[in-house]
Amino acid sequence: MGEYLLRCAGCGAVQPEGALRCQEDDGLLRTEYKRKQLSPADLPGIWTFIDWLPVRGPLTSGDKPVAFQSTDLARELGLENLWISFSGYWPERGARIRTCSFKELEAAPTMQRLQEAGDGRVLVVASAGNTARSFAETASLTGQPLVLVVPKRSMHRLWITAERGNICLVGVDGDYNQAIALGEKISSRPGFVAEGGARNVARRDGMGTVVLDAALTSGTIPGHYFQAIGSGTGGIAAWEASMRLVQDGRFGSNLPRLHLAQNLPCAPIYSIRHGGEVDRSCPQDMYDDVLFNRHPPYEVRGGVKDALLATGGDVCGITNQEAEAAQRLFQEMEDIDILPAAAVAVAALKKAAIFGDIKPHEQVLLNVTGGGMDRLKQDFTINYLKCDIPADSSAPVEEIHREINEVLGRI
Ligand SMILES: *Cc1c(COP(=O)(O)O)cnc(C)c1O
Ligand SMILES: [Zn+2]
Repeated sequence: MGEYLLRCAGCGAVQPEGALRCQEDDGLLRTEYKRKQLSPADLPGIWTFIDWLPVRGPLTSGDKPVAFQSTDLARELGLENLWISFSGYWPERGARIRTCSFKELEAAPTMQRLQEAGDGRVLVVASAGNTARSFAETASLTGQPLVLVVPKRSMHRLWITAERGNICLVGVDGDYNQAIALGEKISSRPGFVAEGGARNVARRDGMGTVVLDAALTSGTIPGHYFQAIGSGTGGIAAWEASMRLVQDGRFGSNLPRLHLAQNLPCAPIYSIRHGGEVDRSCPQDMYDDVLFNRHPPYEVRGGVKDALLATGGDVCGITNQEAEAAQRLFQEMEDIDILPAAAVAVAALKKAAIFGDIKPHEQVLLNVTGGGMDRLKQDFTINYLKCDIPADSSAPVEEIHREINEVLGRI
């Protein structure tokens, strides 16, 4: 089990268990595990990495990413040592994440940690897409209550494969930002808790298992890491997991260079580093709107900027056209469908290979953050989640609060 303490990446002070913020500054909190060497546990799914997850025991559900060495895509790109980590549904390769994205790697440790906190608070998640699905699936499997706050117009994307558990779905008349604002109001009421986004160490360390799994499979920390980002939390997580592997001592001593990819023109982190305007109409017409985040954890200590600095990494911009070509290429070469967000990472890899940013013999890890949705639909029927509480974003939160408790049977 993962014995750990929380330390602020800003001031270095140790923080109380369960804290989301440092009392002194804005730095991200980071876990420091007692075990310095990773020994895979004899547990299913993601819990094989329990030593480096901020939980005491395994949850009933929680699948893991699957890493393998690519042959066809590698040859096509002229790479000799390309590894793919796949988070999605692809049973032929052993990948069984049924909501088809790496957000489930965040949901499982988060739900388990919450259960262990034992204060009975209900998690509130505001999201438009993969995050809502993965938390809904996980909570349904574990039986924990959950409040989802989703823009009404994104409701059609909300499905799970499990039988719906004790979930209360609030549909907001507005966009993603209004859903977030309402989610914050709800989670600040007694009995509820916010998931914390990038500040939640269970989310980051869950995502970090992508790098752990790839290092265990290939034997070494990769030289390069490619991922499509919105907030960049996955990039921070990859950096943190790599630092732990360096400390472990058995997987090499170099951090992977982070190649983070954003979708142009809705690319705030890319714009900070390379200039160019972020379109006012964003996230409309994006190749995948899960890649848009208005307030990414960029400047905070321990955030995206520090991760790029520490690894000599960079952010690249990918157009819809480039992403589309990459999505087709991946499907042809590897014979599985991938989510549009993941195609943005494939496009970034393709560019880096063409421009010589990576050498043919260098070990590369491509994080395919989501895929296999077409494949899933051959094996499972999906259950769409219906809205329980239609909410105007200006509605009084007391009223919504009361209705939520009613839906969850908590009166
Ligand atoms: C959320 C998401 C991303 C971006 O993740 P970050 O939090 O920005 O690291 C990439 N791909 C998929 C499929 C996602 O759901
Ligand atoms: Zn601090």
